[in-house]
Amino acid sequence: MLNIALFGAPGAGKGTQSSRLIEKCKLTYISTGEILREEIRKGTELGLEAKKTIEAGKLVSDDIIVKIIEKIVKANLDGKGFLYDGFPRTVAQAEALESILEKNGIKMNAFICLDVPFDICVERLLNRAKTSGRSDDNEETIKKRLVEYENKTAPVADFYRKHGTFVAVEGVGTEEEIFERIINSLKGCV
Ligand code: AMP
Repeated sequence: MLNIALFGAPGAGKGTQSSRLIEKCKLTYISTGEILREEIRKGTELGLEAKKTIEAGKLVSDDIIVKIIEKIVKANLDGKGFLYDGFPRTVAQAEALESILEKNGIKMNAFICLDVPFDICVERLLNRAKTSGRSDDNEETIKKRLVEYENKTAPVADFYRKHGTFVAVEGVGTEEEIFERIINSLKGCV
């Protein structure tokens, strides 16, 4: 069973490359951002709470996120594996994921970091804002999301460097070029 995480700043292209990767490897897709947006659409209590946090450009609490992940992992252990998009986003989430995987007798195979300069991320997000309908895709919130990324999410890369599963992939180029780099970085896994 494969466990792959796609990591990178907001706008690094995680969502775009995830679609290609799940298609190729037939993995269960877990995007915590998508799950939260679905809760917002449904107007659940969790959704109402998450909306405020997302619109403030902040991260939702580790506790909530870890519970969501644990439930999905447990329910899909009969599949080919998982692709995590936008998770883990804090060192505490990475530690919790390790323990969930261990409890279920599986392990992280590759933690892929899409390297994209912040100015290109901002440009991409502002472009996406024209069609995404996402209330957090605006200049002010994007700036806050990048600060949150730098402070809380970037340290997750070191966690996986020590873990030995970290791979950096240049995230600038055409979608096809980047996907090819990802697949090359997974040689031996897929
Ligand atoms: P994304 O779709 O991955 O860009 O996520 C959109 C927003 O959802 C983020 O800016 C956070 O507010 C929240 N979010 C998504 N995933 C996580 C996570 N793993 N931990 C905390 N907050 C998250």
